[in-house]
Amino acid sequence: MAEAVIPSQSRPPYRTVADLEPVAGKRVLVRVDFNVPIDRARGRIEDDSRIVETLPTIEYLIQRGAAVILISHWGRPKGWDPEASLGPVAARLAQLLACPVHFVPDVVGEKAQAAARALKPGEVLLLENVRFEPGETKNSPELAQALARLADCYVDDAFGAAHRAHASIEGVTHYLPSAAGFLMERELKALDEILGQPDRPYWAVIGGSKVSDKALLLEELLQKVDGLVIGGAMANTFLAAEGLDMGASKVEKDAFGAARHLLQTARERAIPVILPQDLVVSDEFRADASWRVAEPGRLRAQEMALDIGPKTVAAVEEALCHARTVFWNGPMGVFEWDAFAHGTLAVARCLARVSAKVVVGGGDSLAAVTKAGVRERLTHVSTGGGASLEYLEGKPLPGVEALRQTSSGGALS
Ligand code: ADP
Ligand code: MG
Repeated sequence: MAEAVIPSQSRPPYRTVADLEPVAGKRVLVRVDFNVPIDRARGRIEDDSRIVETLPTIEYLIQRGAAVILISHWGRPKGWDPEASLGPVAARLAQLLACPVHFVPDVVGEKAQAAARALKPGEVLLLENVRFEPGETKNSPELAQALARLADCYVDDAFGAAHRAHASIEGVTHYLPSAAGFLMERELKALDEILGQPDRPYWAVIGGSKVSDKALLLEELLQKVDGLVIGGAMANTFLAAEGLDMGASKVEKDAFGAARHLLQTARERAIPVILPQDLVVSDEFRADASWRVAEPGRLRAQEMALDIGPKTVAAVEEALCHARTVFWNGPMGVFEWDAFAHGTLAVARCLARVSAKVVVGGGDSLAAVTKAGVRERLTHVSTGGGASLEYLEGKPLPGVEALRQTSSGGALS
């Protein structure tokens, strides 16, 4: 166990890699999230950031003489499928580590077992996509035990998958001493900070596609924040729920009640809410569609809101420059298309300028800060879309809970 240098109440309640020492000569099974975008035709990784973020854990284990066995899921394959192989990831990882990475097209079968046995201290082995095994998503004890037999201990560095009770995430911790990797730790620390005692004023900027996806998150945030910005397609629903004509915009009628309730809660708590004052609207849902700026309630029948307008951007910038903590989830518009990316990119650049601590969560939000080129200038950009949102909704993540419960370490009977 780690030295009791820090008071027990502030020590993380889950084990960390340091708690598994000494790891020299041990086989360490590391669950990573290598679910990265791959251009299959060219065998190229389009964005390797999830791989890069796990390097500290892998390098730490290599340097201390552990044999590192990596396991990850990729996509949602139905059985064995070469189009969902992790092969291209092994090649990229080898470049990044500047050392060979063994790869076997097997998860827990004889080939995987032989490769794990043959692995020497300081070497790295990547197993095939764990979702090729049907037991993975069913959290099958048989698969969890088979995974556990490959190694002496287990490290979970796959924060992006921590909201799944799967065999390589939850099940396996029942059979091996288990700990959180450095990326997992960093993610949890950043999110715990905004869940706990954020520096104030604390603002949340929430956008993206649906109110129904994020009503719980908004409810939780309204218990904590000093101000809220609502943009993206979800703002259309809030504006329409307030009785404004939003033309042909994407609107969720079923969520009008939830939207009104959230605005009412904010009013009762005197929390300022910034909704779009102007919008970039278009007749067509197309990358090269022509557009104009219009106020909410002033859209023509065929027009839809695809971004926030310049007045709204200015209002958001003004609010955020006073904030000391900001959480951002969800783009302000259809940022994938340049014509409708201005609002999202302006918010990203604003967050890179302000002196506040800035935490970003959400898959598309991560893509947006990467597109804006500001990723490195923000305090923390979560690699876990769904996981970060569930954590902030206050839901226990099975992957994290498993590391707490088995803090004394499991054993294969
Ligand atoms: P995240 O993954 O960061 O949580 P979401 O998945 O909730 O974000 O939302 C991202 C998607 O919302 C993007 O694909 C974006 O194009 C879309 N979107 C944002 N604003 C609009 C809008 N006004 N109309 C249609 N789609 C929008
Ligand atoms: Mg998304």
